Amino acid sequence: SPLILWFRRDLRLADHPMLSQAVATGRPLLPVFILDPETEAIGAAPKWRLGLAIAAFAETLERMGSRLILRRGPALEVLRALISETGAGGVHWSRAYDPASKARDTAVKTALRTAGIAAESHAGFLLHEPWTVQTGQGGFYRVYTPYWNAVRGRDVGAPLPAPRSLPAPTAWPASDRIADWQMGAAMRRGAAVCLPYQAVGEAAAQTRLETFISTKVQVYREARDFPARDATSRLSENLTYGEISPRQVWHAGQRARQEGAAGAEHFLKELVWREFAWALMHHTPHIAQENWREDWKDFPWRGDNPDAERWKRGQTGEPFVDAAMREMYVTGTMHNRARMIVGSYLTKHLLTDWRVGLDWFADCLTDWDPAANAMGWQWVAGCGPDAAPYFRVFNPAGQAEKFDPDARYRRRFIAELSRNPGAEVLSWYAATPRSWGLQPGAAYPLPLIPLDQGRARALAAYAQRKA
Ligand code: FAD
Repeated sequence: SPLILWFRRDLRLADHPMLSQAVATGRPLLPVFILDPETEAIGAAPKWRLGLAIAAFAETLERMGSRLILRRGPALEVLRALISETGAGGVHWSRAYDPASKARDTAVKTALRTAGIAAESHAGFLLHEPWTVQTGQGGFYRVYTPYWNAVRGRDVGAPLPAPRSLPAPTAWPASDRIADWQMGAAMRRGAAVCLPYQAVGEAAAQTRLETFISTKVQVYREARDFPARDATSRLSENLTYGEISPRQVWHAGQRARQEGAAGAEHFLKELVWREFAWALMHHTPHIAQENWREDWKDFPWRGDNPDAERWKRGQTGEPFVDAAMREMYVTGTMHNRARMIVGSYLTKHLLTDWRVGLDWFADCLTDWDPAANAMGWQWVAGCGPDAAPYFRVFNPAGQAEKFDPDARYRRRFIAELSRNPGAEVLSWYAATPRSWGLQPGAAYPLPLIPLDQGRARALAAYAQRKA
């Protein structure tokens, strides 16, 4: 009987443990993607980008004589329907580690097994299963450096080759059409503006990795903090949909390190931050919703407020912050240094709840990753594990001087600062909702709050918490 391969964030052929194991059985394979309520609910930009990933993967499968069956509805219901339509005897998937997915997957596994259907989950999304990295006392790591030391020398095995062929069933069940799913419906900024910045699919992800290793990793360490430079891998976008595996990235980084590339070790360390974030999500799922540290429980954050709205729209009057917020709106990504600065500005200068920022990022980032996003926000806000101390308030003007000395990044995304704004910056105005009422010729806004005043206000709130 056929096997159902339930694809989620693992839209690739190579280094895919679930796929390789299924192919080895020799049974006919029924690849399926289910638009279930959990997936339906994700933010506008990542949902749109997921739609592109699904379409690309479906094409890849078709070229191999297979298909990606698309179905919509609660996962268990859909799987049960497919089983009764096709006589499938088993369902396989790659594991997910966020609380909602874990609850769903556990329920699916129990129900299917009770019904006599083999249900099996596999590794593939992470280098290390979260429960396999333990401290000497048998707990999990709350601090990054010892986590890194625990895993840096581990053998993660060699990446698996892509299967040469996928055995097809004699008849295919019906499939939805991706266009009917309207994955871009909530992308008010217009998908056309964002599209040129995406590298969709497995082949594009591999090209990104190769380009990074052959041209950028050497100077990664020095160049990675300058947002105007194209100095990082940009693989977060592909890793989050599983268009590339972390093991493929790890191996390429290790090879570069062995060949003496100066920045390789640093790059590997960054990749392991992703592992650390998912380990935290697994062990402390409240990281996605609550101040992670108990002693931060009652911090008087401001909820959503007019200043935060201006922050979202790149209208704070702080050029580095605004450039970054506009970069995210137009391109679907934001440089890591800029993420730290806009996060610090929102939570400290504007005293606004990090969850307001978390939600906006979740709506705008095509590399949205629930674990990295939650860890990043709790880190900048100061309430997370291994977080930046609260009193360390980034100064966006000082940061701009240091990391954008020629103002290239700021001018690239703020038309008001250029005499001859280019097409890229103008695309931001085209992308904003009409209700924002923005014009390229408008005056650049005055700062929402003088930087020293914002800093003092943040420190006072922090001192009160300690009192
Ligand atoms: P590179 O510098 O090339 O790094 C290689 C890989 O390492 C990345 O692709 C990523 O998988 C991983 N990585 C690097 N830095 C981090 C980090 N700090 N935390 C976790 N993994 C990391 N990353 C996301 O993938 N999705 C998010 O939604 C996300 N939200 C963030 C929110 C905030 C407030 C902050 C401060 C950081 C966030 N990050 C997030 C982490 C980081 O900014 C991005 O992973 C990075 O900018 C991606 O660019 P790159 O692929 O070129 O990274």
